[in-house]
Amino acid sequence: MKGLVIRNTGSWYTVKTDEGRQVDCKIKGNFRLKGIRSTNPVAVGDRVEIVPNNEGTAFITAIEERRNYIIRKSPNLSKQSHIIAANVDQAMLVVTVNRPQTSTTFIDRFLASAEAYRVPVVMVFNKTDILDDDERRYQEMVIALYENIGYECRAVSAATGSGIDGLRELLAGKITVLSGNSGVGKSTLINSILPGANLRTAEISDAHNTGMHTTTFSEMLPLPRAGGSPSATQDSNTDGNVHADGYIIDTPGIKGFGTFDIEPEELTGYFRDIFRFSKDCRFSNCTHRHEPGCAVLRALEEHYIAESRYQSYLSMLDDKDENKYREAF
Ligand code: GDP
Ligand code: ZN
Repeated sequence: MKGLVIRNTGSWYTVKTDEGRQVDCKIKGNFRLKGIRSTNPVAVGDRVEIVPNNEGTAFITAIEERRNYIIRKSPNLSKQSHIIAANVDQAMLVVTVNRPQTSTTFIDRFLASAEAYRVPVVMVFNKTDILDDDERRYQEMVIALYENIGYECRAVSAATGSGIDGLRELLAGKITVLSGNSGVGKSTLINSILPGANLRTAEISDAHNTGMHTTTFSEMLPLPRAGGSPSATQDSNTDGNVHADGYIIDTPGIKGFGTFDIEPEELTGYFRDIFRFSKDCRFSNCTHRHEPGCAVLRALEEHYIAESRYQSYLSMLDDKDENKYREAF
C-alpha cells in the first residue's frame, strides 16, 4: 500500500494512503537514506510504502525517491541534519513592512537559500489593513523591487480576508512550506485559508528551534478542494507527485532553509539580480567587493541592482568568510 506522510511526531508517522485513509505508522527496522545523516529517516511529504500489521497500525517499509528536501542542521549534533520536509513544491514567505518590520536582509537570505534548494518562493505581504500611506508606498516599492528580480508577490490581509482567495489558488495542488518571522501572521493566515484548522503553531510559535517538540514535530495541513471537504476526497496520485488538494507544511520554528552548504563562490548564483551582471566581471572568481572591472559594482552604481540586495549579498559573503554561517536565520 502506498501513501503520503502528512505528520511526524518524532516516534509516529501519519500516512494518508492513496485510498484516502489515515494510518499511524512506525518505521520497520532501521533503514536510513543514503547520503544524508539525519535525525529522522522519513519526513512529511515523503511518498512511502506501508505494510499494515494486525494492530490497526502499519510499518513504513520503503521511501520513494525524493524530488527535493529541506534540511536543517541540528543545533547540537553538528554532523546530523533534520529533514523538515520532502517533495516541496514552493515556499510561501510571509513578510510585513511594519509591526513587525521584516528586514530585507532576512528576506534576501531566505530567497538565497530557497534558490540553493531550487524551491520557488511566493512572497506574501501581510497586514496590509494597518498600513498608513507612507508604509503603503514603501510596500509598493519593496514589491516592485522583488517583482523585478522575478519573485511572485502578493499583498494580503489575514485579518480582513483581502487577497486570501488568490493565495488559495496559488496553493492548490501543491506542497507549500510556510515561512516568515514570528508575529507576521502565519497562524492567522493558515486559519483564514483553512477555516477550522487545528493549529499547533499558535501554541508554540514562540518556542525556539532547540526544543525537542519543535525539532521533531511537523505536519502537512490539507487544503480543501474547491467545493469539497479535505478529508473525504481522494488524492489522485497517478504519477506519485500529484497532490490533488495541496498541503501547507506547518512546522514550528522554520524560518528558512539551512544554507550551511553554500560555498562563497556559489553565492552570486543565488542572487538572480546580481548573477545577471556577474558574467561580465573581469575576473571569473570576482567577489564583487572591490575588484577592478567588476560589472556588479558598475550595475550597482547605475541602480540596476538595489543597494539593499547588494548589502544582503555582502553580509552573507562576510559570514562565509568568517566561517560562522552555520545556520540561516
Ligand atoms: P505568527 O507568529 O507568524 O504565526 O503570527 P500570528 O498569526 O500569531 O499573528 C501575530 C499577530 O498579528 C496576532 O495578534 C494577529 O492577530 C495579528 N495579525 C495577523 N495577521 C494580521 C493582519 O492581516 N492584519 C492585522 N491587523 N493583524 C494581523
Ligand atoms: Zn564582480
